[in-house]
Amino acid sequence: MIYRLLCCSDTHTEVPPNLDEASATAWLHAGDVVEGPEIVGDDSDPLQDFLRAPVARWFKERPLPVFVVKGNHDTVDDVHAFRHANDVTGRVVRIAESLVLAGIGWCGETYYELPLESDLRGPCDSVLRAANRILMPSDSLILLTHYPPRFPGMRELTRDVPNGGVWYDCVRGLVAELRPTAVVQGHVHSWAGTSQVVRIEDRDTTVFHPGKLGGILQVDTVCRTAEVSWPSCER
Ligand SMILES: [Zn+2]
Repeated sequence: MIYRLLCCSDTHTEVPPNLDEASATAWLHAGDVVEGPEIVGDDSDPLQDFLRAPVARWFKERPLPVFVVKGNHDTVDDVHAFRHANDVTGRVVRIAESLVLAGIGWCGETYYELPLESDLRGPCDSVLRAANRILMPSDSLILLTHYPPRFPGMRELTRDVPNGGVWYDCVRGLVAELRPTAVVQGHVHSWAGTSQVVRIEDRDTTVFHPGKLGGILQVDTVCRTAEVSWPSCER
């Protein structure tokens, strides 16, 4: 089977990108749906209501299933995104025949810009256990993670990120164990609009940073390959 997945991340209280939903299987949002603590307590602010309303409508009215993980800004759900979407933070779910999705995101209750390895190790361990229970040999897996794993060669992608960027060894460990066909990730805005193929042991994994402009991930569960395409070549 070939599945077309509409992907985005880090939309920060903006409406997700306008991608063609015809013949697509689902949306994947890699977290930071809202702008976190800045808007907490601003319920009476007409400007904030003006910004939130179209985002809330987008999540409520989607004709496709939306799968989302929490980013560190998603400490509130004032656009009701997590109410209407499928929150897969810390979970492993089957989203189609032979296609399974695992989610890594922010599990804390308060905003924190840079979680530590120790903050994410527990969620990675529980996702690994859940995946081992659910995955069948014929399944293809996608990891949807707000936090990027550290891979050899990732440094080349950190050109715009001071101090070498943000990445997590425990998420890389999860990738090495689970061998997903693709990793869809967020958090580092300067990587948005890029993808690369990373060789892990004997397997290629497509690592995809869709960003707020979004992109399309096409997964072939028979060949276990993934291809990235962009809605516009003017990026
Ligand atoms: Zn983030």
